[in-house]
Amino acid sequence: MPKFKTLDDLPANLTGEIALVRVDLNLPMKDGSATDVTRVEAVKPTILELAGRGAKVLLLAHFGRPGGQRSSTLSTSMVIGDVGRVIGEEIMFIPEIAGPVVEQSIGILRSGDIGLLDNTRFWPGEEANDPDLAKAIAAHGTLYVNDAFSAAHRAHATTEGLAHLLPAYAGRSMEAELKALDAALGTPEQPVAAVVGGAKVSTKLAVLENLVGKVQHLIIGGGMANTFLAARGVNVGRSLCEHDLAPTVTAIMDEAERAGCTVHLPYDVVVAREFAANPASLRVCNVHEVAEDEMILDVGPTAVEALADVLKTCRTLVWNGPMGAFETEPFDAATVALARTAAALTLEGSLISVAGGGDTVAALAHAGAAEDFTYISTAGGAFLEWMEGRILPGVAALEA
Ligand code: ADP
Ligand code: MG
Repeated sequence: MPKFKTLDDLPANLTGEIALVRVDLNLPMKDGSATDVTRVEAVKPTILELAGRGAKVLLLAHFGRPGGQRSSTLSTSMVIGDVGRVIGEEIMFIPEIAGPVVEQSIGILRSGDIGLLDNTRFWPGEEANDPDLAKAIAAHGTLYVNDAFSAAHRAHATTEGLAHLLPAYAGRSMEAELKALDAALGTPEQPVAAVVGGAKVSTKLAVLENLVGKVQHLIIGGGMANTFLAARGVNVGRSLCEHDLAPTVTAIMDEAERAGCTVHLPYDVVVAREFAANPASLRVCNVHEVAEDEMILDVGPTAVEALADVLKTCRTLVWNGPMGAFETEPFDAATVALARTAAALTLEGSLISVAGGGDTVAALAHAGAAEDFTYISTAGGAFLEWMEGRILPGVAALEA
């Protein structure tokens, strides 16, 4: 487990402390209010704990892509109502991130009060990780807490720079994410299975290259499986397939064999001539029987059963990417079945299951399996970079 400090390393009483807390409040919006407040719920425990222990809490967050300029529609004041409602506390809006306005606002805040600074990305120095901006922000606080794993793949002033200037701690959500990810790929209980699906191999090459050296079973599904099958000489008809990646995929399979990693490709598939819900041309066939005018849209039922048996022999599962075109029925069947198997094994206590990725989270929720997974990461880009085995600058700075 990587070493980083948590809120447990702080004194119980934080009266007199000013905590600069990096959070992810980049909420999806419609008509001026948030359509999903999961990100606020994720950082709520950290905020309430710091405030409850007596610190003045100053929240730092980015919102959208203002590109280093102020924009009234991208001010964090747009989300302050939703944030306050979810946190259950009044939050003071501070329309700057450093300077006299921040200083005056801190003077008004009492012990245990919460303030929200404006969009960090209004200042070009944020994304440039400008040391002068980081210093100006750090001057307002006595400690720094990063609770935004989803922004940790960016080396920005408030995700990385600040951690070197103040005593730095992982917030509760960051702590939980790092522990779960470490349990899945850092120091996992073996054997480990990885499910990698989704649309394209090209977006996940680095993930595959990292995983073959770390897991005992690599389960390939989704459009990616078509590219693997084609590289092995299988005719995939009109399926989504990156034929030009055949040499790359062959190299990955060779590397897997050297590393003792079994690559599981489907041997039966669900095909159709048109991509629509419940099409008349729907059928299940062996991968060697796909017709020239057919598309592979899901992994077949026999393969899913065999994959469920693989999961039963494993202690750890890491999952990114749906097994089929799950948004359209019945091409959700393999994803749903495998997700439910993983959820049941997790409930029984025989499997540690960690999943992430935008469409994966939606697919597991659709399967009714998300609740029972050990951990679901909503971090998107940061989760994928972690699956690639990359060091995330926001995390590395906490360990320094
Ligand atoms: P994530 O967002 O979880 O990382 P991706 O974005 O890589 O996942 O892939 C998800 C997409 O892959 C879904 O929209 C799904 O419909 C698509 N997909 C999965 N299998 C197939 C397939 N056989 N043919 C076409 N698209 C597929
Ligand atoms: Mg996606």
